Amino acid sequence: MRYLRSCALRSGSSGNAILLASEQSALLVDAGITGKGLACALQDLAEDPAKLKGILLTHEHWDHISGLGVLLRRYRVPLYINRETLRACLPDLGKVDPDLIRVVYDYETIRIDDFEIKPFPISHDAADPVGYTAETDLGTIGICTDLGYTDEDVYRALTGADICYLEANYDPNMLKVGSYPQYLKERIAGHQGHLSNHDCGRACIRLLEQGTERIILSHLSQENNFPHLALLTVNDALAAVGAKEGLDYQLTAARRFDISVPQGLTG
Ligand SMILES: [Zn+2]
Ligand SMILES: [Zn+2]
Repeated sequence: MRYLRSCALRSGSSGNAILLASEQSALLVDAGITGKGLACALQDLAEDPAKLKGILLTHEHWDHISGLGVLLRRYRVPLYINRETLRACLPDLGKVDPDLIRVVYDYETIRIDDFEIKPFPISHDAADPVGYTAETDLGTIGICTDLGYTDEDVYRALTGADICYLEANYDPNMLKVGSYPQYLKERIAGHQGHLSNHDCGRACIRLLEQGTERIILSHLSQENNFPHLALLTVNDALAAVGAKEGLDYQLTAARRFDISVPQGLTG
């Protein structure tokens, strides 16, 4: 059977990596996972490591690149990355074969085997952060985490995504009364920070209007959120516009330290 499958292997400030796989190839979006962690995840998902055809990077923050150097040396697959992000993360990579590096540009369509990948810019306090859409002839998966706000450009980029990984980082009240220092609270809630559960709920309404039917809440804060609270807030926002869970959409939350339930399309 033909398939397009996705799975959050890790999600949150302790590490981020999303696996995309078809029957012939696999890609990793972000590398916030150890070599052993990825090997175990591929085994659990019954995906052949030889199918891995590339690693795509969203930005250089440590929770997205902590395993990158190791994974590049172990799997020897191309790294798809924009110039500014590459410059920012080079000092952390160790020895990497320069022939593996493919510089990519916003809105460029990148063909990797049966995948068409497109990076799009997002607002975050990193050198040149991006989200991605990944398309095969079975459908499209959108990945959009680590961003301070969603605007028309983001919605346009995610148009046509059947499945979307969208950030629901924090509950505003938990952030407000929590233990983080004031500067960090302001950073998280700022335009180059992260999406709150409420921001995410509003974005989900738009995504549903544009045809996305499956959303995975991602990059939840451990300090300032709970999975059930994020799900409740987003479900409430969608219920307020008449959308019915299970009928109009499916909503789940990605796990922090473990692989999440795979989300896929078959044909
Ligand atoms: Zn992050
Ligand atoms: Zn970040």
